[in-house]
Amino acid sequence: MILNFKEIPQANSGDGLQDTFELFTRDFLEDMGFEILQQPDRGADGKKDLIVGETRNGVGGKSILRWLVSCKHYAHSGKSVPDTDEPDIIYRVAAHKCNGFIGVYSTLAATSLGSKLNGYKDKIEHQIYDRERIEKNLLKLPQGIKLARRYFPESIEKYIKENPKPVRIFREEPKINCDYCGKDLLTTKGGIFVVLIKDGENKKDKLGHEYAEEKDVYFACKGKCDSILENMYRHQGLWSRGWEDIDDLMIPTLFLKNIIAYTNQLTQQDVSSKAHEKMKQLYINVFPHIARELTEKEKERVKVLTEFGIW
Ligand SMILES: [Zn+2]
Repeated sequence: MILNFKEIPQANSGDGLQDTFELFTRDFLEDMGFEILQQPDRGADGKKDLIVGETRNGVGGKSILRWLVSCKHYAHSGKSVPDTDEPDIIYRVAAHKCNGFIGVYSTLAATSLGSKLNGYKDKIEHQIYDRERIEKNLLKLPQGIKLARRYFPESIEKYIKENPKPVRIFREEPKINCDYCGKDLLTTKGGIFVVLIKDGENKKDKLGHEYAEEKDVYFACKGKCDSILENMYRHQGLWSRGWEDIDDLMIPTLFLKNIIAYTNQLTQQDVSSKAHEKMKQLYINVFPHIARELTEKEKERVKVLTEFGIW
């Protein structure tokens, strides 16, 4: 679970926040496309139920279905909603002139309640939004993240941090395409970039050490695309000198480490303009992905790679 429903205060806690789960239910169903026909305010006589409408387009034209909504916020105790906590469903639905029943629960419906509702199948329609169904719908709705941010601020902050999206810097989506199949390697895992050198054409760097100039760079999916490209370049006398995972380059600290190593190399050695253009293309397109904090998984990856002296 991504959303921690305990972030919504417990009902009847007497601090004036007792309606929060009801308000969340109203906003959630509204985002789902239901029309709010009766607000869940509390009148002098106690509880006022939430009623929502659903417009259905049928052969005979538009019709509005009225749903009676029951919310139960048991996240703090963790218990599921038993049938005894939803008494007289048929009567309640009829009394409110509704056609169906919606249960919105921050835990789960107990089996007893599920069987009871299934027993009413030919009398009324029913839908249950339990914590999993709420989360699934919320995170998939366009307005969902915004709504979730209001009621589950901590859960959403953590979720966004752990599921980074590239920041909007350029007009176009950043892309690094496999030079063989064209697949975008920034959105699919398993891409590499390979540095190519020319065999037997060594130069001397500023300190007098021999080195092979970087002649070209290619981007590839690991496996088949990589082998095909490697073979193709070999026919041109170019050999792979090394490769790096593009997934690793998309980790903020490793990106920085790589770009520093590359600029250091530029002060010592020549790089062909072809290879340099490819490196620039790589750094520019990866940048929107790394302008952010590290996820917990990335912190682990950096730790492993630095411990083994790979990066
Ligand atoms: Zn490919």
